[in-house]
Amino acid sequence: MPLVFTRRHEFLKYIKEQKEKRNSIGFVPTMGALHAGHAQLIKQSKNENNCTVVSIFVNPKQFGPTEDFAKYPRTFQNDIDLIESIGAEAVFCPTVEEMYPNNFNTQVSVSGITEVLCGAYRPGHFNGVTTVVLLLMNLVQADRMYLGQKDFQQVQVVKKMVLDLVHTTNIIMVPTVREEDGLALSSRNRYLSPEARQIATAVPKSLAAAAKLFLQGETNVTKLLKASRQELNKFQLEPQYLEFRKISDLTIKFENTIQEETVLAIAQFIDSNDSKVRLIDNVILDNNSTNKQSLEDLISRAFR
Ligand code: AMP
Repeated sequence: MPLVFTRRHEFLKYIKEQKEKRNSIGFVPTMGALHAGHAQLIKQSKNENNCTVVSIFVNPKQFGPTEDFAKYPRTFQNDIDLIESIGAEAVFCPTVEEMYPNNFNTQVSVSGITEVLCGAYRPGHFNGVTTVVLLLMNLVQADRMYLGQKDFQQVQVVKKMVLDLVHTTNIIMVPTVREEDGLALSSRNRYLSPEARQIATAVPKSLAAAAKLFLQGETNVTKLLKASRQELNKFQLEPQYLEFRKISDLTIKFENTIQEETVLAIAQFIDSNDSKVRLIDNVILDNNSTNKQSLEDLISRAFR
């Protein structure tokens, strides 16, 4: 069983012991409802560190007033079982009051890259993310922190915060784990009805269609977008955004030709019963061999 901490002071004592033993610490921050995507991050941390800490905290600060904070899935016992099966050493799962006592007055805000893509549609979201992540990073004092490529903008925002504030934790991005048909694993997939789940396959298909053309040498944005949108059109889907952006500076959008270091990112609402489920996904359009392999994997899953 992993050691489970709900109070900061007890958790800090544990971290101090790890430091005294000179154990390297790997950190995987999560909001729980863990799945194989989270498991991949925990496994990688386990491989690369002596001590792995997983946090479970549904952070109210990163949800907008009309978003799903109250109904966000909470599956604590399953989460602990999964963490135990991988062998992570500790879980930090504080309450909201423990994280943000009454007099909590600080907000961490990264400008620029938080204003595009998801940031343009979810005001305040990334301030909530950076505030909680920096607070957690300061508590855990990890050598390495593992974040999923699925939330690509989040990774870039956290990397910028770490660079600007000279934090010593290394940020490691782990490739997206996907279902058999290419859909990126997400805690929110469980909101999808069977019909909506079928329609959701258009999201990885739209990325795979562009990736396929890219691997054939296409760099024209209009052509790549056309192929991508064709997959969405089959289900009458209109994305919230579908954009080619520069990886090292997400504020730069490619309108004509994609350059080196391109990410294609999508946010798509899917109607499911009486609600709308917001899915995000992305692919890095780079020809290096590891990335090419992951593009080929996505293409073969999406068009199997
Ligand atoms: P969340 O619990 O949604 O806040 O996610 C916690 C971490 O798991 C984040 O770094 C996510 O990017 C990562 N994650 C979520 N889904 C996946 C996935 N399908 N593949 C890889 N990492 C993921």
